[in-house]
Amino acid sequence: MLTDNHGRKISYLRLAVTDRCNLRCFYCMPEEGLNWLSRTELLTYEEMLRICSLLVKMGIEKIRITGGEPFVRKDLMHLLRGLSQLQGLTELTITTNGVLTGPFVRELKDIGVRSVNLSLDTLDPIRFFSITCRDEFSKVMETLNQLMKHDIEVKINAVVMDGKNTQDILPMVELTRELPVSVRFIEEMPFNGEGHHYDGLKWDYVRILEEIKNAYPAIQKLHDDASSTSYNYHIPGHRGNVGIIAAYSRTFCGTCNRIRITPDGVLKTCLYDEGVINIKDLVRSGISDDDLQKKLLDTFGNRPADGWEAERNRNIGDPAHESMATIGG
Ligand code: SAM
Ligand code: SF4
Repeated sequence: MLTDNHGRKISYLRLAVTDRCNLRCFYCMPEEGLNWLSRTELLTYEEMLRICSLLVKMGIEKIRITGGEPFVRKDLMHLLRGLSQLQGLTELTITTNGVLTGPFVRELKDIGVRSVNLSLDTLDPIRFFSITCRDEFSKVMETLNQLMKHDIEVKINAVVMDGKNTQDILPMVELTRELPVSVRFIEEMPFNGEGHHYDGLKWDYVRILEEIKNAYPAIQKLHDDASSTSYNYHIPGHRGNVGIIAAYSRTFCGTCNRIRITPDGVLKTCLYDEGVINIKDLVRSGISDDDLQKKLLDTFGNRPADGWEAERNRNIGDPAHESMATIGG
């Protein structure tokens, strides 16, 4: 078993395959987009497969493909098919905005993807446009239909933003009445790629829960897995569940089992760190698997205790200048 210097199991890799995106969620990146990485700066699929294969041998059990929007990278299915063959990998999953995903759902099912996180912050097409700057709501809903039809477990991730979509909280909870989905509300984090700050977080997990509890007093707390980032609930009579992710408040660091690789091949052992080693440079310099494994183990042995410590250790400015799309949210 792979563990860090605080005795936490490391078993989950989030691999960002691109920083590019076909939406412009304002909390994630500026409307003009980011300073996109060039093709040569990105890890190739072959490099990703080598790194993932080593990490799986070392103890990684679950890989989530993310970005940017994974499906804007050409031939994503090639990577997914390769990863699905890795012996020892028990879960392969994706986080997607759903715009281009629909046509691939059947193949995802065929290669063994059992669950998908779909990002959707509102059920109102006009608010969707105002949040994402793109008119793609109907394609996302079609992807949701496809996922349901193919019996893929769906977690809908909604970032809660003061003044933007708090009126969507209850309608999204209502979705769980008829659909067997988990709707998870995420605290807005400071990674917006623009450097703008907020006056504190107006909708933290406590306030989100209060809003839901007032409307559904019978809501019941579910047991949360040790490494779960969400507090999970069930409303009696509903088919799905509700979750709240305290991503800003960082209540889950004590059991964090995840590491990240950014689209340009930098390893992060905490969402809030600035990147700890550049795996791409090591791989391109011809490092052997044994030596790469040693470097990775050293890094896992030096993990910050929590997101606050990681943020204090940063040398490259505050997180607001980073985007979740370059981190692999
Ligand atoms: N494009 C894909 C998507 O949107 O699902 C995958 C990448 S996106 C960066 C992954 C997740 O990060 C999305 O659920 C998104 O809502 C979340 N995210 C991005 N910026 C965020 C922020 N500032 N605060 C909280 N969540 C954020
Ligand atoms: Fe794109 Fe996802 Fe960021 Fe929205 S949250 S801009 S869909 S990467």
